[in-house]
Amino acid sequence: MVTIVPRAAWGFDGWRDGVAPVPVSPTERHEYMLHYDGGTPVGDQTGPAMIRAIHAFHKLVRGWAGIGYSFVIDQAGVIYEGRGWDLIGAHCPGHNRSAVGIQIHIGGDEQPSAAAMDSAIALYAEATRHAARPLARLGHRDGYPTDCPGVPLYAWVRAGMPAPATTPREDPDMDAAQANQLFSTYAMMYVPGGDVGPATLPQRVDAIAARLDEIAQSLANPTPPAAQEIVAAALAQGATITITPKQAQA
Ligand SMILES: [Zn+2]
Repeated sequence: MVTIVPRAAWGFDGWRDGVAPVPVSPTERHEYMLHYDGGTPVGDQTGPAMIRAIHAFHKLVRGWAGIGYSFVIDQAGVIYEGRGWDLIGAHCPGHNRSAVGIQIHIGGDEQPSAAAMDSAIALYAEATRHAARPLARLGHRDGYPTDCPGVPLYAWVRAGMPAPATTPREDPDMDAAQANQLFSTYAMMYVPGGDVGPATLPQRVDAIAARLDEIAQSLANPTPPAAQEIVAAALAQGATITITPKQAQA
């Protein structure tokens, strides 16, 4: 399940008089179409004021019933209900009934945040449950001649909306015990060149020592003195140690 902020909770002030949107059965959906806000970067617009502004623009300037997207996701990863699951959208001619229309609130070449991508993935899973089938992942430009949803977002949807990469980060405030643990882990994974190659034990120890120095320089805390001895001793016992390739740096 995903958490969705319902219309009633973000200050929705009703559909335009006499232009109520048309109901749609969730099982008529077979597409999940992403949008962005447009060619202009939006900066850090998050929260209810953001979706109220989209709603007002669509209702008062465009003259539609109101907000045209099914859902809007901000860069904090919060999902707001627009027309929701049960009303046709106003986001792409020819696809307003078949597609759940999602705006991720970025513009220009802004990158979607990891939180926004995670929410879009979770909402996709929820959409497939409502539709009772997988949905085609599309960008607006797949259904209409437009730059929407922008270069970064379109590349992501074309790649199948993969989970955002998480970059492991070293905590500069770690204590000595945590640092020892991390160093030992790194050292066990490390062989010269990043391979599981035929490095000799002395070569491994040298490489590990170099790697430890490298890591130490990236930390606020000094190298725990025990780390090198621990690793060297472990390797010296070593025929049974499993060396796996060092992970590629993100
Ligand atoms: Zn669009």
